[in-house]
Amino acid sequence: MTPQSVLKEYFGYDRFREGQSALIARILEGGDVLGIMPTGAGKSVCYQVPAMLMTGITVVISPLISLMEDQVAALREAGIPAACLHSNLDQQAYFDTLDAVRAGQIRLLYAAPERLLTDSFLSLTESVAVAMVAVDEAHCLSQWGQDFRPSYLQIAEFLQMLPRRPVVAAFTATATETVREDIRRLLALKDPLELVTGFDRENLRWIVERPGNKFSALKEILRRNRGKSGIIYCISRKQTDALCEKLRAEGFSAGRYHAGMTAEERSASQEAFLHDEIQIIVATNAFGMGIDKSNVSFVVHYNMPKSMEAYYQEAGRAGRDGSPAECVLLYGPQDISTNMLLIDSSAQENDRMTPEQRETIRQRDCERLRAMVRYCGLTDCLRHYILGYFGEESPEFCGNCGCCLADSETVDATVHAQKILSCVFRVRQRGGSCGMRLLCDILAGKDTKQIRERNYNTLSTFGLMKDVSRVHLEHMVHALISRGYLIPDMGQFRTLSLSPRANPILRGQETLRLSLPRHDLKETARERRLAEMPDYEMDDTLFQRLRKIREKLAAREHMPAYIVFSDATLREMCRKRPADDEEMLAISGVGRHKLEKYGAAFLNGIREFSAEAPAPEAEKM
Ligand code: ADP
Ligand code: ZN
Repeated sequence: MTPQSVLKEYFGYDRFREGQSALIARILEGGDVLGIMPTGAGKSVCYQVPAMLMTGITVVISPLISLMEDQVAALREAGIPAACLHSNLDQQAYFDTLDAVRAGQIRLLYAAPERLLTDSFLSLTESVAVAMVAVDEAHCLSQWGQDFRPSYLQIAEFLQMLPRRPVVAAFTATATETVREDIRRLLALKDPLELVTGFDRENLRWIVERPGNKFSALKEILRRNRGKSGIIYCISRKQTDALCEKLRAEGFSAGRYHAGMTAEERSASQEAFLHDEIQIIVATNAFGMGIDKSNVSFVVHYNMPKSMEAYYQEAGRAGRDGSPAECVLLYGPQDISTNMLLIDSSAQENDRMTPEQRETIRQRDCERLRAMVRYCGLTDCLRHYILGYFGEESPEFCGNCGCCLADSETVDATVHAQKILSCVFRVRQRGGSCGMRLLCDILAGKDTKQIRERNYNTLSTFGLMKDVSRVHLEHMVHALISRGYLIPDMGQFRTLSLSPRANPILRGQETLRLSLPRHDLKETARERRLAEMPDYEMDDTLFQRLRKIREKLAAREHMPAYIVFSDATLREMCRKRPADDEEMLAISGVGRHKLEKYGAAFLNGIREFSAEAPAPEAEKM
């Protein structure tokens, strides 16, 4: 068999995605690899496919038991013999698995890093040939990674104890150069093929909203995603509880997840979400690692997260099966100070560090937060900003983000910018300071108590922009923050100050073009217009029926539904309406094993439906 035919036969996919073929080819030549691919890009296939073609087993090292179990279940469904060894197995199951491996019945063996140096595991790997060791979530090796796991350091020792050094393949979703260096060194990779695949996730629609009322904005998002699965991230446990309550009270099917709940409560919530028993999970950032659920259609951040890295990872849990999905960040002025509090308190918790180290980390955290704040104020392409942040070039217009989709036009905003910037300057000149609201009030010439008390109505910039709508005005201030002309103070008071970059604009040496909404629609109305997601061009009734079939099959097998077939696969069935085995095999995600196991059930469903409702083409005639 070739890699291509393994992909088709077992996974049901027609072609490899970017990066997959190169990594697989190198592994099959016997070389090490380090694959850096964003969540959802398809890292697992890179070691699962060659595992089927190599002589000897593949040991996969993975940090979480739940993740392992899901992967093993998915592989078995695809007809690939896989098993896992971890501390939750009872003794009988553990020894049965060892026997199966010895008998050559297993191709992929998943293990937690703590297992590797145990006697039973070492004696196993002495008696069977290990062709490859695949290290999933390899950034766990590095102290500089997000989730350092000391037990990952045992991998190197394990490799040395093997009779023959296997191919070593490491994978991670995020890795800075420091983390990459750690991975190479700590695994002693031999001249690895390093591949960073594009970070762009085309099917994700990025949206930032700055609503007056976050809860109504959230309900609007839930309305347009009715019947779909989604995650809502909150910044604290308290808020998670409160928001979950509120949503339930309004009749939404929601559960919650955070580190303050008991282990049983947490796993009950997680299971209910994975099995589609609840549609929405409200959670802190404790939720998600190891969540492979492929049909998450939206991820909402109810608060601004602490960094672009965290945001991209959390939001990236949407649309893993490649279906259109949206990632919405609800930004409010309070988000900065809340994050600053978290940064300060986490610095205090770390008492093993010297004050200097603490300060360095604090500075780095503030810098990351600033980049996040800039994202929240953007008026032009969000995707372009994200990709630029991760060091990738991309067009300035993506056509699938909140900013590109907004009905806006690019205008010369130099004069407006000068007025705004000089207003900040004048206020500072008087020894005062202003945040977004006060700044806009002054420029609009509003008669407020605050302005009267501080005499700001005598500033030369008072009322200078009263003919500009509030929506436009706020938009421009946000844009000036995003572009780095205005610097938000990270403290409690959320005041703005000028950056040195503002000078050339103020002196008229530089012009500034900004994209602004063409109409002064109220925020909500604007959002509603850009809300409609791409049409799937399929019959929703049929889709719902196939989902029901999938649910039944999954319940029978005690597995999450998406392991039977992903939503993307069901959608393709709806569009193409396969009539026999051959046509069914042509659907992406249907491999031979799954065809034999589930094909008939879905073919029947489609046949029955087509008998009742003719295909769309027929209707048109
Ligand atoms: P990662 O581990 O990189 O987050 P996964 O390996 O879980 O991503 O893959 C994400 C999804 O993409 C899975 O549903 C997987 O089956 C699917 N996938 C992987 N490779 C391909 C491919 N070549 N064609 C179509 N779908 C693929
Ligand atoms: Zn865009």
